[in-house]
Amino acid sequence: MSNRSHDRNNNVDKRLRPYRAKRHFNQTKEPYGKKAAGRGRKSSAPIFVIQQHQASSHHFDVRLEIDGALVSWAVPKGPSTDPSDKRLAIHVEDHPLDYADFEGVIPEGEYGGGVVQVWDMGPYINIAEDKENVEERRSMGEALEEGRIEVAFAGQKIRGGYVFVHTKGKHWLMIKMKDRDADARRNPVKTEGTSVISGRSLAEIAAEEEADD
Ligand code: MN
Repeated sequence: MSNRSHDRNNNVDKRLRPYRAKRHFNQTKEPYGKKAAGRGRKSSAPIFVIQQHQASSHHFDVRLEIDGALVSWAVPKGPSTDPSDKRLAIHVEDHPLDYADFEGVIPEGEYGGGVVQVWDMGPYINIAEDKENVEERRSMGEALEEGRIEVAFAGQKIRGGYVFVHTKGKHWLMIKMKDRDADARRNPVKTEGTSVISGRSLAEIAAEEEADD
């Protein structure tokens, strides 16, 4: 292992400390997170995942793969496809990459207790990475640091450009860009409620997990 990838993996472990500290892995089926981060080929596009989470309050968790972990926001109303909506996105702790396909029930009394569903998933592109003006180019890490992230999603429900703008503290806004995927008539958080990996609704996930126990 090169020193560089060694440092990066140590850094991911450090970033996952808050995630691991909140959870009891003998109680919850959520992943601990693999020691060596990375998803195979380095050239593969980074992924995003949006999980619908019926916890003490219902919300969506939007996660972007950045440098070996999933940088995460809780979005109470979920993403909009209407550029005139500004959706509050609360920056929460980084999650491990293998959280992306976690679907199931977190036991009551555990952190985030409730049903988790993989609502949308796919690759994304960092739009700021290859801006024409060299001065405007940003890596995802830099964009996160600066509080302005511009990405294009290629999911099944959520597609095209989105901007994440830091406002204050843990608060950001998630806004659809005006592009050909913008559509004020769609409301996927209300009308497209099933999992992209299992086809199940929140209720079906809950029922099947109960049957398993
Ligand atoms: Mn959540």
